[in-house]
Parts: sequence; C-alpha cells; structure tokens
Amino acid sequence: MLKAKNLHKSYNSLQVLKGVDLDIARGEMVAIVGASGAGKSTLLHILGTLDRPDSGEMTLDTDEVFSLKDKELTALRNRKVGFVFQFHNLLPEFSALENVAMPGFIAGLNRKEVEEKASDLLKRLGLADRIHHQPSQLSGGEQQRVAVARALINDPMIIFADEPSGNLDSVSAEELHQLFLELRDDFGQTFVLVTHNQQLADMADRKLVIADGKILP
Ligand code: ADP
Repeated sequence: MLKAKNLHKSYNSLQVLKGVDLDIARGEMVAIVGASGAGKSTLLHILGTLDRPDSGEMTLDTDEVFSLKDKELTALRNRKVGFVFQFHNLLPEFSALENVAMPGFIAGLNRKEVEEKASDLLKRLGLADRIHHQPSQLSGGEQQRVAVARALINDPMIIFADEPSGNLDSVSAEELHQLFLELRDDFGQTFVLVTHNQQLADMADRKLVIADGKILP
C-alpha cells in the first residue's frame, strides 16, 4: 500500500536519509526503531507526507505522492493519512468531539454525519462520558485516545504515530498499545510507529531498524 524508493533527505550538510526503501502492506503494523538522531522522525514525516524528501519516490495507494502539488498533497493527507504524535496536539478551546470531528469538517463532509461518527468513535474508544470535555479536563491517556479518534475520523488508509506513548504513564501506555492492536486486528488498520517503547515495538508485525541513514537489511 505504501512504497518508498531511494528517499534522501539532508539538513544543510547533515545527510539524515541516504536512500531509504520501504514497502508496507495493508493491515500491517510496522515499528521504526533506531538510536536517537538516527532519522526516525524525519522518515516518519516524509512517509506521512508532512515533509518532502530531497529525492526519491513514494506511492500511497495509487498516488505518486511527491509529484502532487502542495494543495493536492494536503487534500490527500487529510483523506488518507492519520497521525498520532507524542504530544496530543488537541486544540485546547474545543471539546473532545470537536477535536475529533475537525479533520472531517476540513474534508468538507456533512457536519451532522461527522459529529455522529466522532461521537461513535469516542464511545468505541471508551470515552462516552468525556465527549464534551475539553482536553485540559482529560487525563493524558484520555487525551491520547481522543487523538487516536481524530486520526481515525476520515477512515485513513494508514496511521503514523511518533512516540505515541512517550508521554504516558505505563498503565495508559499499555492501554494505548492494546487499542492499536485492536484497531489492527478488528479493522485491519495499517500503522507505522516510531517508538522507543520496547513493548510497543515488540507488538509490531515488523521492526525496521534505521542506522546510518538507511534501513538495515
Ligand atoms: P530521530 O527521530 O531518530 O531521533 P530525527 O529524524 O529527529 O531523529 O533527526 C535526525 C537528525 O536530523 C538529527 O541530527 C537532528 O538534529 C536533525 N534534524 C531533524 N530535523 C531537523 C531540522 N528541521 N533542521 C535541522 N536538522 C534537523
């Protein structure tokens, strides 16, 4: 479903990615691991179309993504890609429901339908009694589950997560990891995760190790 070929990325004279090839199948959970500074986040941002490589190609589904203009790429990201970051990035002045619904509103979907779907997702993720709370009224684990619901609202083909449990206590981290597994097992959700969490990395179908700008064979 996601295929990347010969990705290169440098920051000034620092070559971070030196020819990364990658193939991710539908329904797979893939963990990207490696030392701090190895380029994991840089790679995840490129795979998630948040950043462009200096050279290389990538197809997501049927789209040759880096041939797209910025506006087309933004639309593709909104419809096909979900993100969960270490810090939840929820909008503080909006409720859980509004935060989850936001990418659906941006996609121009029917307001009522999006709100119903957001509400269903929050219920499914165990947040039925938190729907109208603002982020500051939620625990760290609850905030991160709202962020997962937001990532799911447009039925993404793939979810990218960058240290998703990096800011959680061990119980909330474990719950989040179980949630990812359920989403993969019950809905065939595809995940690409960057994590230092051994437990999460071990749960993945595959571990890709990045070192010296490449994925180790
Ligand atoms: P990791 O996620 O494996 O810790 P990163 O992808 O965050 O690694 O960073 C890889 C290297 O690229 C690091 O040396 C980092 O300092 C550098 N880097 C990352 N982003 C930028 C940027 N926007 N500008 C300059 N250097 C950057």
